[in-house]
Amino acid sequence: DEMDVDTIWMDGEFVDWDEAQIHVLTHGLHYGSGVFEGARCYDTAQGPAIFRWEEHLERLYQSAKPYEMEIDHTVEELTEATIELIRRQELPSCYIRPIAFYGYDSLGVSPRNCPTKTAIAVWPWGAYLGEEAIERGIDVMISSWRKHASSQIPTNAKTTGLYVNSMLAGEEARRNGYAEAIVLNKEGNVAEGPGENIFLVRDGEIYTPGLSESILDGITRDTVITLAEDLGYTVHDNVSISRGELNTADELFFTGSAAEVTPIRKVDNVVVGDGSRGPITEEVQSRFFEVVERETDEYDEWFTYV
Ligand code: PMP
Repeated sequence: DEMDVDTIWMDGEFVDWDEAQIHVLTHGLHYGSGVFEGARCYDTAQGPAIFRWEEHLERLYQSAKPYEMEIDHTVEELTEATIELIRRQELPSCYIRPIAFYGYDSLGVSPRNCPTKTAIAVWPWGAYLGEEAIERGIDVMISSWRKHASSQIPTNAKTTGLYVNSMLAGEEARRNGYAEAIVLNKEGNVAEGPGENIFLVRDGEIYTPGLSESILDGITRDTVITLAEDLGYTVHDNVSISRGELNTADELFFTGSAAEVTPIRKVDNVVVGDGSRGPITEEVQSRFFEVVERETDEYDEWFTYV
């Protein structure tokens, strides 16, 4: 099948890939009223291991709250379903996409009578921005589009509708020959990428925009803060970063469940540092891969083994 998988879990049942369908008058399709997650399961010596699954599910339920969406399935059910999907399809590693959304009722904007639909798909997915990006870094542009302000829409919820903004920014960047975008917030400070958080290194210390900067509270962001601090670095995770600081940074990198740890080598064609993966980025990145591939037994509490 399209994604090399044959089964999807939907509303409590395992269904064939091509039968996992919904009605065209689904509320979530018309109004973007869905919440979702993106997690990774890594190939390790102890078998497939889902990275920070509990935190991803926690964020899924939290994302649903502003929309008064009741996900009718427990953490245990969603976990069992996911493990079963990975086992059945014998995937050594994969990306995991849970989604919950309002289904069909009358198509008024109010979803009051809409059922909440829930689905989980898993599929093999390599490096989000390419293998080469992990090593050599990527060229990014500062988007002409701004992030939604957190006063306009909850930016700490992973809502499907939010991602048209990510699409605009990402496609604008790719149309202009860049791999990805950096999106500024309404105040004009650095927020994040379309699907990544951003980190800056200057004078041996690490900086990342604070949670009040209209960003998603990224799980990889949290992971990298923890790993960097445990490596002995000072991490400033509650700061505003101005656009100009991108140019004076020694190193920049993106983080995300899909993007993992991806160095940034140019911003708007201005070289960052010496234009290659910086030494602190490399250290944090290699620690990240060592941890997710379970080459260390530290941080074992972050893993759900399949
Ligand atoms: N910001 C946005 C807008 C995202 O979509 C993502 C990907 N979920 C991230 C940041 C990174 O979050 P995480 O590390 O939890 O994947």
